Amino acid sequence: MSNLGEGSEPVPVGYVVEYRPFAGDVREIRVTGEQLHGQACVIGAECAGGGELVDSGHVYTSTSDGQPVYGWPVVAHRKCLAGQS
Ligand SMILES: [Zn+2]
Repeated sequence: MSNLGEGSEPVPVGYVVEYRPFAGDVREIRVTGEQLHGQACVIGAECAGGGELVDSGHVYTSTSDGQPVYGWPVVAHRKCLAGQS
């Protein structure tokens, strides 16, 4: 169970990354460390929840100061991928 709504503010953790799904448009999303490491559905707030996690593409972390860009393989629920067109 989560403890949202207990009066503490949601922690704005995460990384803004470029998401390049196997299917669909490249877009910018915010992910948590879990999502970045392929341990949680990358769809995040729009996640339909449940079901099998499958490879869904890569996200690319970028920096504004000329550092290298890294690609991370990410996963999503089959259900969530089906909902993305
Ligand atoms: Zn999901």
